[in-house]
Amino acid sequence: MFLRVSILIIGFLCTLLTYGQKPKTYTSSEIYQAVQKLNFLGTALYIAAHPDDENTQLISYLSNGVKARTAYLSITRGDGGQNLIGPELRELLGVLRTEELLAARTIDGGEQFFTRANDFGYSKHPDETLTIWNKNEVLSDVIWVIRNFKPDVIINRFDHRSPGTTHGHHTASAMLSMEAFDKANDKKQFSDQLKYTDTWQPQKLFFNTSWWFYGSQEKFEAADKSSMISVDVGTYYPNLGKSNNEIASLARSQHLSQGFGGLTFRGTDQDYLELLRGELGGTKIFDGINTRWTRVKGGEEIEKLLLPIEEHFNFANPAVHIPELLKAYKLIDNLEDDHWRTVKLKQIKKIIAACSGLFMETTTAIAAAVPGTQIQIQASLLNRSEVQMEFSKLTILPNNKEFKPGRTLGNNQLETFTIDYTIPQDSDYSNPYWLNKPSSLGMYEAAVLLRGKARTPAALPTVVTITIQGTPIEFNTAVVYKYAKPDKGERYQPFEILPQVTVNAADKVMVFADQQPKPLSLSISSATNNINATVTLKAPKGWKVTPNKQVAVIPNKGEVKTVTFNVIPSKNESTGKITPVVDINGKRYSKELNTINYQHIPNQSVLLDPSVKVVRSDIEIRGRRIAYVMGAGDAVPESLEQIGYQVDLIDAQNINAEVLENYDAVVIGIRAYNINKTLKFKQHLLFDFVKNGGNLIVQYNTVSRGTKGPLNIAPYLLELSRERVTDENAPVSFIDPKHPILHSPNKITAEDFEGWVQERGLYFADNWSKEFHPILAMSDPGESPKEGSLLVASYGKGYYIYTGLSFFRELPAGVSGAYKLLANMLSIGKQEKMNMNSLNN
Ligand SMILES: [Zn+2]
Repeated sequence: MFLRVSILIIGFLCTLLTYGQKPKTYTSSEIYQAVQKLNFLGTALYIAAHPDDENTQLISYLSNGVKARTAYLSITRGDGGQNLIGPELRELLGVLRTEELLAARTIDGGEQFFTRANDFGYSKHPDETLTIWNKNEVLSDVIWVIRNFKPDVIINRFDHRSPGTTHGHHTASAMLSMEAFDKANDKKQFSDQLKYTDTWQPQKLFFNTSWWFYGSQEKFEAADKSSMISVDVGTYYPNLGKSNNEIASLARSQHLSQGFGGLTFRGTDQDYLELLRGELGGTKIFDGINTRWTRVKGGEEIEKLLLPIEEHFNFANPAVHIPELLKAYKLIDNLEDDHWRTVKLKQIKKIIAACSGLFMETTTAIAAAVPGTQIQIQASLLNRSEVQMEFSKLTILPNNKEFKPGRTLGNNQLETFTIDYTIPQDSDYSNPYWLNKPSSLGMYEAAVLLRGKARTPAALPTVVTITIQGTPIEFNTAVVYKYAKPDKGERYQPFEILPQVTVNAADKVMVFADQQPKPLSLSISSATNNINATVTLKAPKGWKVTPNKQVAVIPNKGEVKTVTFNVIPSKNESTGKITPVVDINGKRYSKELNTINYQHIPNQSVLLDPSVKVVRSDIEIRGRRIAYVMGAGDAVPESLEQIGYQVDLIDAQNINAEVLENYDAVVIGIRAYNINKTLKFKQHLLFDFVKNGGNLIVQYNTVSRGTKGPLNIAPYLLELSRERVTDENAPVSFIDPKHPILHSPNKITAEDFEGWVQERGLYFADNWSKEFHPILAMSDPGESPKEGSLLVASYGKGYYIYTGLSFFRELPAGVSGAYKLLANMLSIGKQEKMNMNSLNN
């Protein structure tokens, strides 16, 4: 009985194909390829730490070349990284990157798994990584995936033997994989999992090495390769009309949020695998492992039916194979081996449907609905062959609602049915399952049976039963939202179940530099008609909100109403959160709706806590007007406005002396010199601005290994490095405690370095001329102090400042010390001028 449950766990591929996507149809060549895969009984699991770590060339080679069941287990969802295509960060970025991985797997033919580990940002050492993650829980998830997916071969992207040479998450992923390989078959390890699955022993464990890990091509050529095998990942597949690396390039280009859209690789290319566990058994990845049907009890007979189909495949009319395929289907359905029965049934069903050109979908004309409401589901079925077929049953799974048309599906006769369906009142909302509960710095929470899964199962899964030549076959599908737009064509998106009402605050963080009240606007969105809602705010102690409630009357579904409250901050410095609650007839809602919408992934709705972080901090500023030159994108400008600055975004192209004259300071956004090619030509104008009394603050820019960073970004010698301090709690000391930047207008103390998030900073300078004054010293545990996080130099009448401190993370997180320090950086040298102005007035 428990084995049936494991089917649910690993059997998510069916829903993957129907999750907001057009039903896939197959060419004869693709069906042939699927038959080859049906006849290969071998499984490979690739393991690394982040979306984009995976070697898509090898994954595609395993899936399309070797024909193995292949999956990538990414320990994290990449939540801690940056986003090159939009505003999503943290949890939302994790959702976006999850979908990018799934888009990549749809192309390279792999499956996708994750653990509950949270990507908390850069980590220098696996020891740190494995303390911030709950090591035992992450190991448990790796073992869970191994016990369910049952790989014969595991391949690590990273080397478990070289801690400290790469991201700590990377080394940790390899270390966890080694440990999981040794423990997955041990009944005493994580024995609670054995209620749902059984133990498993993979046969081989490889490290996917390359010259890169040896430092140079020459060193790698000279290395001992007796325990290595190599594969040509540039193989050409005539059936697909593509080289393996062409497919892999396309897959890799799905990582658009990381800027991995790239050119296509073609031609022969060797990839190397170093054996860490097990026996090589030959020169190929699966040598020594039986990958034929004969590895399964009862498989011999199945092979006798299926091998001839592969050998004499009829490309002109694949439907001729259906009688033999149906015989094999029945034998597979009777296999004692639960694992292979599940895996192979799924594959052969797909082949039977594809051979007969069977098209089936269950769609709605609405994107989302609320629990308890009635929707119309349209079922469309089309048999495009002479094969005898009947549409026997449609089951909508959440409450097993059955629809039994018993309709014959004639050759090329489209049959459509409309079914009224009421969404169960107790339905869960559509939401990434790992975001349903609050997460910690290192871990997400998830119910046992959801662990490992890439995404939440579809809102309305369905089972379509088609009786083919007398054999009833159940196909797993799901209800999807289908529509057309004149400027986009036909579109499929996931159908979602959402709350009746959601509430989004205009700002997620409000910083009060003094006791002035500020307005807080909330957008109330309704998913049904005729809503009469009462909105209240829960405020922390010492804070006040007026009025104490607001009413939002929303006549139409999809309409958004804005209500505004006045937030009166506490007298003294304090931090807390204000939580909006919407009440409709006694039912309370408190969810914020975020939508993620890009061409390369299905639309995502993400429900999060709608609370607003409020910070009351005495922050003084000098100077008012700031010009901000955007780099890779950050929320620093909005944050500066919160504490009273007037910030104008200016395009690098428009920088000239007249424009700059209007400002007290110019702030350069993160990575601006890396991204903006115009900026370096404006450098002399920025220096003139400083010479004339302006302040110029340059935030971090990235540096390639072995270089000194973008050149001439400062009026004096300044070289950047890859040095960073990743421990957000790393002690900070003051090199020159008397420096004005630590005193005016705000006094900076050790307390101002408390409560920082993710890191202290990155890409610190490591060489500078004597004009620069280093202000702060800090280091990660066990390292020597780094002094290049904040450098100040006077130049003419103004100041030039370089900083690698992570203001772009700290300000949006409402870290008051970061506000005070940045206010001082903007204010330096401004004191007298302000006083003179006030005298003149
Ligand atoms: Zn990585």
